[in-house]
Amino acid sequence: MRNHSTASPAAVASPAAPLIDIGINLAHDSYDADREAVLARAEAAGVVQMVITGSTLESTRRALELARAHPSRLFATAGVHPHHASEPGAQREAELEELARAPEVVAVGECGLDYYRDFSPRDAQRRAFHRQLELAVRLGKPVFLHQREAHADFVAILREHAPAWRGVAHCFTGSAEELSCYLELGLAIGITGWICDERRGSHLAALMPKIPAGRLLVETDGPYLLPRDVRPKPASRRNEPAFLPRIAATVARARGETLESLARSSSAAARALFQLPELGFRPQGATASEN
Ligand SMILES: [Zn+2]
Repeated sequence: MRNHSTASPAAVASPAAPLIDIGINLAHDSYDADREAVLARAEAAGVVQMVITGSTLESTRRALELARAHPSRLFATAGVHPHHASEPGAQREAELEELARAPEVVAVGECGLDYYRDFSPRDAQRRAFHRQLELAVRLGKPVFLHQREAHADFVAILREHAPAWRGVAHCFTGSAEELSCYLELGLAIGITGWICDERRGSHLAALMPKIPAGRLLVETDGPYLLPRDVRPKPASRRNEPAFLPRIAATVARARGETLESLARSSSAAARALFQLPELGFRPQGATASEN
């Protein structure tokens, strides 16, 4: 297979510079029927490691099981998404802490604020966010952050806990002002296939050169956010990690660099933030004790 620095349908990361998907909801039931095939396609596309998003206690438990079944290749986050902040699970903090302590869990979250959907009352969202920031600091793990239409409160809460935490603003789709604010706070920035959308992603492309190489991470957020330029479109409309090279190629083009150079820097940034082990294309028969 050839490597392209453009977003061709066959974009494959170079074996010399494999990719890491830092946000994949692999515990989602849309992957239940063919999860191993999804993982095989990811590996064939050069996506060698993934961080599985936990967004409730239940999905965190499933993410952790998957990480344990694929040591040094899959990792998990442990958290309560703002959508679920008012559910009973969000209050079971001892349980969340126990999950978050597992060595396969490399971040606390997905946590943050979502005033766009407002599925949970805002005060419950803020409370859950505060507690998860405290947990991350206590465990010395980074935070995996979600924010939608809640920028001011989100930044205020992060400032209250600064500079103890480190973390990534996952699925960044904001403005130039929001980006410079995040960079000033010390956040890494996660970019999804949103950038592949000609209509709503073009402002993002213009912001790509402003992100320092060591702070730019790439993610699919599958099964959500199928890049709009995937051809042929899967009948299921499901996104998966094998599409990550296409996202990375679009980011690389917007920054005026090659896919290989973007892959190298984003993977190094992901390893540094989540403290992932180096891994080439061929995972050895590693055991869970490796971590
Ligand atoms: Zn999110």
